[in-house]
Amino acid sequence: MTPSVYRRATDAADAVRRAAVPDAKYLGGGTNLVDLMRETIERPVALIDVTRLSRDIVEQAGGGLRIGAAAPNTAVAEHRLVRTRYPVLARAILAGASAQIRNMATVGGNLLQRTRCTYFYDDEGSRCNKRHPGQGCDAIEGFNRNHAILGASDACVAVHPSDMCVALAALDAVVHLQGRGGGRSLALTDLHRLPGDRPDIETLLEPGELITSVELPALPLAVRSTYRKVRDRASYAFALVSVAAALAIEDGRIKDVRLALGGVAHKPWRAWRAEEALRGQPVNQAVFAAAAEAELADARPLKANGFKIELARRTIVAVLDELAGGEA
Ligand SMILES: Cc1cc2nc3c(=O)[nH]c(=O)nc-3n(C[C@H](O)[C@H](O)[C@H](O)COP(=O)(O)OP(=O)(O)OC[C@H]3O[C@@H](n4cnc5c(N)ncnc54)[C@H](O)[C@@H]3O)c2cc1C
Ligand code: SF4
Repeated sequence: MTPSVYRRATDAADAVRRAAVPDAKYLGGGTNLVDLMRETIERPVALIDVTRLSRDIVEQAGGGLRIGAAAPNTAVAEHRLVRTRYPVLARAILAGASAQIRNMATVGGNLLQRTRCTYFYDDEGSRCNKRHPGQGCDAIEGFNRNHAILGASDACVAVHPSDMCVALAALDAVVHLQGRGGGRSLALTDLHRLPGDRPDIETLLEPGELITSVELPALPLAVRSTYRKVRDRASYAFALVSVAAALAIEDGRIKDVRLALGGVAHKPWRAWRAEEALRGQPVNQAVFAAAAEAELADARPLKANGFKIELARRTIVAVLDELAGGEA
């Protein structure tokens, strides 16, 4: 379906104004939206191109960074301050897609890319509550090897596909928004929803709300951070399980930690319980394993993805072990 209107926004206010019509969509690099339009999963009537809005990456007073939503993923991964202060973010981005796609993809689009559940893309032949609320979900009894083990519902077991978002969840990132009623901010961990009985509603964004930037707070422990993605092939594959982590150690104990998981839930999964279990503890593998256990205690496998629980447990331990640099 070809949209009847294409407009290139000149600034955030212009974008929001132009998007104030039914069935308008913002267009970033188009690497997800255009595919979805081709498959007629998305049928926008108006496309508002936001790639000319801010793509600046600006250091903030106090040491944080503000990243314009139109910044290409590649520019973020290559930025000197991202690589040195937030290596987990650079690594997560570079673990995703291909160089060509990362050059096109924007930060705003990456945040709002949609699930890769194969039934979601099969409009002709499959039932999907995310596409058609109330229709049913063919993944629950179907091919669900890639699906969720945490936070899923009887309506939807899809996972969020972004690598970048997992790092942003671990880094306490804040998403800045502009809507018809003005601006506001949301913690990245609050941006995406769990499916509940409305998997078609994926975020807390209001209709027409534009992502203008993402802010990374100053986070000294992020200097010691990394991202590990476990997948079926080395490229062009989404995560089966991924782990983003940052670790600060003092006198043989865990002074502070940030941990988030990808490939396991409908949203980037901040591992709050594991963090709680780790803070103040001695640095050793038994502590790491107990923290992973605490985080995964509520994991519920489907027919074909039970392996993800053990995979997540082992990946959490391995990543913490790597960051501990032999102290464990
Ligand atoms: C072959 C292939 C492999 C991939 N592999 C991976 C992978 O391994 N890991 C991974 O993380 N990703 C992967 N991706 C996905 C890729 O990262 C996303 O397609 C990309 O990040 C989307 O960004 P975009 O700018 O192209 O978004 P678009 O496709 O332009 O838009 C996506 C959504 O975001 C909305 N949007 C865009 N900008 C804004 C804004 N500023 N405010 C509000 N809404 C906005 C659009 O309306 C749309 O709904 C892959 C993609 C492909 C095609
Ligand atoms: S898991 Fe979610 S996206 Fe996939 S078919 Fe079920 S409802 Fe649709």
